[in-house]
Amino acid sequence: MKAIDFRSDTVTLPTEGMKEAMLNAPLGDDVFSEDPTVNRLESHLAECFGKEAALFCASGTLTNQLAIMGHTSPGGEVICHVESHVYKYEGGGIGRNSHCSVKLLNGNRGRIEAHQLADALNNPLDVHLPMTQLVSIEDTANRGGGAVYDLNEIAKIRTFCDAHKLPLHLDGARVYNALAVNKCPPLNYGKYYDSISICLSKGLGAPVGSVLIGTKEFIQKARRNRKVMGGGMRQAGMLAAAGLYALENHVERLQEDHLHARALETCLHEQPWIDYCLPVETNIVVAVLKEPNSRDTVIATLANKGIRCMAFGPGMLRFVTHLGISSSDIDQTVEAIKTSTFM
Ligand SMILES: *Cc1c(COP(=O)(O)O)cnc(C)c1O
Repeated sequence: MKAIDFRSDTVTLPTEGMKEAMLNAPLGDDVFSEDPTVNRLESHLAECFGKEAALFCASGTLTNQLAIMGHTSPGGEVICHVESHVYKYEGGGIGRNSHCSVKLLNGNRGRIEAHQLADALNNPLDVHLPMTQLVSIEDTANRGGGAVYDLNEIAKIRTFCDAHKLPLHLDGARVYNALAVNKCPPLNYGKYYDSISICLSKGLGAPVGSVLIGTKEFIQKARRNRKVMGGGMRQAGMLAAAGLYALENHVERLQEDHLHARALETCLHEQPWIDYCLPVETNIVVAVLKEPNSRDTVIATLANKGIRCMAFGPGMLRFVTHLGISSSDIDQTVEAIKTSTFM
């Protein structure tokens, strides 16, 4: 029995078409900026989001960390959500790589609000305080269960950043899931940010890779820092080809993942052992159990039925839909959930 794996949208395997694109990609040495396929991916994404340049990296952690390094200097401070990936899941990289502290904000489902920024900003004339140097937001917000930012809120955050000469970074690991919901063309969406990190290896289904985009000068600095950190790759066009293929073939189908996530939410919501689900907006379903202590039993019981989901905090489960999950997988999962009882 093939497991239906909802643990993450990173578990996708390359499709036949993607593998063919990878095999046929023209290659060169990307540390010399001579890999035509990497160059094509970088210029394509920069152009899509209306930026000057882009940099292909091995992971979203690397693109986020290079962005933070590029925008800050030691002793600075980054404003971000308390549950943001850049703070919570990057191994303390803000401190370790950029020597900066963080000002952590609470906010609805992983999103900050513009009105919180005035209090979070340190007075640059007060020598006691670290200099606020960057605002970083996440869209969609993973810990918020794939919540999407309201475009008006992003515009207000941008206005605040402009008024205080602060750069704004987007952790856009799942930015295409956000764009599928807010219907904003990437070119318009890109205007809000100084830099954007985009993962090709999440719902888009590439095996490896993230892209950082920004100004030419910012990307040149990131290119240098990527090399320093050992992240310069040679014939990386094989991987970039997977990313280009994903952008061409797997963006529109994200809507399907969102419908699948809704179906899963509806089913989970009806179960007596589920307290509630975070309202699904994209491809992530976060379910809260009535009996928090039953979490690991639920995970193990579902795993025995070939359905894999992940612990997402005390009493919480996360299911993520992606291109490895078909409509019949969803039907099968719904059936398995309906016939399971934990009370
Ligand atoms: C997955 C993810 C990243 C990057 O993760 P990598 O595994 O390093 O590619 C960054 N931000 C968010 C919100 C993510 O979900």
